[in-house]
Amino acid sequence: DLVPIRRALISVSDKTGLEPFAKALFHAGVELISTGGTAKALAAAGIGVKDVSELTGFPEIMDGRVKTLHPSVHGALLGIRDDAEHSEAMERHGIAPIDLVVVNLYPFEEVRRSGADYASVVENIDIGGPAMVRASAKNHAYVAIITDPEDYTAVLNALELNAGSLTYEFRKKLAAKAFSRTAAYDAAISGWFADTLEIEHPTWRAFGGHLDSVMRYGENPHQSAGLYLTGDVRPGVATAKQLQGKQLSYNNINDTDAAFELVSEFDPANTAAVAIIKHANPCGVATGKTLLEAYEKALACDPVSAFGGIVALNRELDAAAAEAIVKVFTEVIIAPSATAEAEAIVAAKKNLRLLITSGLPNPRSAGQTVKSVAGALLVQGRDNAVVDDMELKVVTRRAPTEREMADLKFAFRVAKHVKSNAIVYVKDGATVGVGAGQMSRVDSSRIAARKAQDAAEAAGSTDVLTKGSVVASDAFFPFADGLMAAVEAGATAVIQPGGSMRDDEVIAAADAHGIAMVFTGFRHFRH
Ligand code: 5GP
Repeated sequence: DLVPIRRALISVSDKTGLEPFAKALFHAGVELISTGGTAKALAAAGIGVKDVSELTGFPEIMDGRVKTLHPSVHGALLGIRDDAEHSEAMERHGIAPIDLVVVNLYPFEEVRRSGADYASVVENIDIGGPAMVRASAKNHAYVAIITDPEDYTAVLNALELNAGSLTYEFRKKLAAKAFSRTAAYDAAISGWFADTLEIEHPTWRAFGGHLDSVMRYGENPHQSAGLYLTGDVRPGVATAKQLQGKQLSYNNINDTDAAFELVSEFDPANTAAVAIIKHANPCGVATGKTLLEAYEKALACDPVSAFGGIVALNRELDAAAAEAIVKVFTEVIIAPSATAEAEAIVAAKKNLRLLITSGLPNPRSAGQTVKSVAGALLVQGRDNAVVDDMELKVVTRRAPTEREMADLKFAFRVAKHVKSNAIVYVKDGATVGVGAGQMSRVDSSRIAARKAQDAAEAAGSTDVLTKGSVVASDAFFPFADGLMAAVEAGATAVIQPGGSMRDDEVIAAADAHGIAMVFTGFRHFRH
């Protein structure tokens, strides 16, 4: 899988680091070919270089609009070396293969930012450059493509390591980077057009995704919205098949995603799990022997909020669960699959959307989340930490009982999917109170307990639902007061990341009340 680098084509607008890099290639015996400005710069530095017009037998024309757009160049980039027909064509037309391509594009982004006039911006749309970048990247089986001066050193090191060759693995990585460069470049161009036209065409905001559908409106009726597919095949709301119901709204999609990602934390081989979501936060999550049992437990947590909610299931939707779900006004049901009987039950509710994903996403898989802030995209890796993989440390005198431990893990699993500050009370594999999105942890704790009380009263019970429950906190308790609010609500065990300056105080307060507490070492902020 090693490709010896014998001929290189260099055509760069940004000439940073060019001279030492080209010199090193030249001294290693690599034949260099370049376009006008680049060739001039290399020749001036005393580096032997051939002009690309010698290859094409054609001068650069139209102010450089056409320099490398020629079969002699593109044939040399695209030819499959060990294909008889390709080799024959190369020979017949006198095309010698090019093994290394070094291209960076006309500085469209900078020219645009500089406030240049319309014609200058248009002139800085590189055509031949991206064509060479894409051709070489496509043919990475035989060609290496460098699009970033930052990679010159790594390439020279790799050449030295492999006696003048580059490995397949390395060429493939360079190809991936090359395509992300041309994607970003085209996104910048289409974004500029959209701005000059004053139209909504936010491909650059959509992280290089492509438009799948336009929604009637965004989070609010005065906002426009669209769904852009990223090409990620993760089972979920964007790739699901919609069997019935109206078009999903922006808020539906957002909430359905939150719901399905949450239930996918529960392995269907071990348990049935159901999550009911409102405004991207769970108002009830439960496990059970059957989906029906799980749904009833989840609904009991906060039946008032569940009205108009999204229901996600981790197993095939069956008739019994479908029967129960359609009794409550629900916007969306999402499940890996559904029985024919269940589909028929849901069909009676024309507006109810039923989404089938054909699988569950892996909560441990890597990936990225994107959020926009003024002038930038904020990108991070997914929160793929799973409580089962964490080293749980008991920090109190009393260790959790087996039953408490199972509920603690359940609670922390749910807390990961609740907006911060998140406090989640759990009893017997079901949430009994969820406090979400408060600016203070004590408030989240009190709200969760209050909601549990309301649910009990609504069900005509005098029980305090949080009595004998366990509680999870998405981040550490900075003071003992948040923990005390949970103790007052009747919780007997606590799970939290730990790591506060006042951990000792919090642990002492837990010990004073016979509370068992475990630290996870992982935080689950979610905003
Ligand atoms: P140079 O400074 O060498 O004259 O030009 C280098 C630039 O030209 C690079 O940014 C490269 O992407 C671009 N380029 C190479 N071939 C072509 C072409 O055929 N047409 C256009 N428009 N740009 C090209």
